[in-house]
Amino acid sequence: MGAAEAVTDALRELHRRFAGLRDGQLADYIPPLALADPGAFGLALISMDGHRYSTGDADALFTLQSVSKPFVYALALSVLGLDEVGRWVNAEPSGEAFNAISLEPVTGRPDNAMVNAGAIVTTALIPDTPDAPRFGRILDCLSRFAGRRLDVDEQVYASEALTGDRNRALAYLIRSAGPLPVDPVAAVETYFRQCAVRVTTLDLAAMAATLAHGGVNPLTGDAVVPEPVAAQVLAVMATCGMYDTSGDWLLRVGLPAKSGVSGGLIAAGPARFGLAAYSPLLDPTGTSVRGRAALGALSERLGLHLMHNPALAGSTVTLVATADEPSAAPAVSRGSAGRERVAAVAAQGALDFTAAERVLYALDEARPRETGAVVLDLRRVTAVDTVARAMLRSGLGRLAEDGVRTAVADPADRLALLPGTAEQGGHPAVRPFPSREEAAAWCVSGPAG
Ligand code: GLU
Repeated sequence: MGAAEAVTDALRELHRRFAGLRDGQLADYIPPLALADPGAFGLALISMDGHRYSTGDADALFTLQSVSKPFVYALALSVLGLDEVGRWVNAEPSGEAFNAISLEPVTGRPDNAMVNAGAIVTTALIPDTPDAPRFGRILDCLSRFAGRRLDVDEQVYASEALTGDRNRALAYLIRSAGPLPVDPVAAVETYFRQCAVRVTTLDLAAMAATLAHGGVNPLTGDAVVPEPVAAQVLAVMATCGMYDTSGDWLLRVGLPAKSGVSGGLIAAGPARFGLAAYSPLLDPTGTSVRGRAALGALSERLGLHLMHNPALAGSTVTLVATADEPSAAPAVSRGSAGRERVAAVAAQGALDFTAAERVLYALDEARPRETGAVVLDLRRVTAVDTVARAMLRSGLGRLAEDGVRTAVADPADRLALLPGTAEQGGHPAVRPFPSREEAAAWCVSGPAG
């Protein structure tokens, strides 16, 4: 029992709150799904550090069904790229039920990869070669998302293969309508198999966490899909993942999500969490009633809505000082003989575009009115992404061009200013130093040498 038990408590509290919900129906158009325990209810959350939290029936096995769709779409995007996949599957919300005939007039292109028509085409697009058969590739990919070897519930597969005439009909319609280079009719059996892959709620949370974590499974460190693919999949989940209630879900819950008719539901808080619920009683659109309620409440409680004031972290810039404030900038004032004015700005944490803007703004605010000197202290910065690096290099270069002596305490050379590491946009007059003292000493040591 540690402090992090508080996270499990949050899940337990939601479980208690919604376990009593008895609304909804078990799916029965695939007969074995109607045998599920209507009381089953699991919740799980996995952080970007791979910390696992769960409650209820989080280890109970069920089939992926539609929750397989975003992951097979991710595989297709990884193999073929967005442009090629987009030629055959659109990315427009259909506003229609999962099994609707959502095909573009004339071209026959399905609206998106989250409805059955689009998912069948997506599955058909996965290469099928003798040494790497299509379903083998799909099962490998799903397993890597989950972080463990998954298998197929053969009974559920056989049952859907027997009763799945509507999906077969969809595949025939697609084939009759369009110039698709692959055969959706042949692929429909593979689609049924991917729907019958067995998972637990914790597996689903790992799969969602992998998408939230830029395609890298936070449990195994496996780079399952490239980061841009993870972002593309999350975008389509956000607009199309919740059947015909996708708009309302994005409005109220604000997270990319995908539900399936066996009662599984995933949601991803990009760069935050993977969330999952399992409870097989479904609302009329085919989404788990308890899952929808619990993940909705969790998003609200943890402030996960994507449009909700993302990172107003005031802590990027931790110090703004000048030599006139010796207590705040003791190292800076040393040796300045009180004549040269030196400003110091310190930052911490991971710097992205937003953080870089704050740092540059703080430098402008802190910089002495007359020509003077600034020290940017990056010693407590843990990461600088490429956008932030380019912005900081260019902003510091501008200061130097304005005649401001500009130094950076950057022992890890996060701005790549050291000789031999220069990137486009750097400025030779911006000097990196291992410590703030050395940076400040250089600033006050007279004309540039
Ligand atoms: N195998 C199911 C079907 O294609 C999946 C549907 C779903 O989960 O929405 O009908």
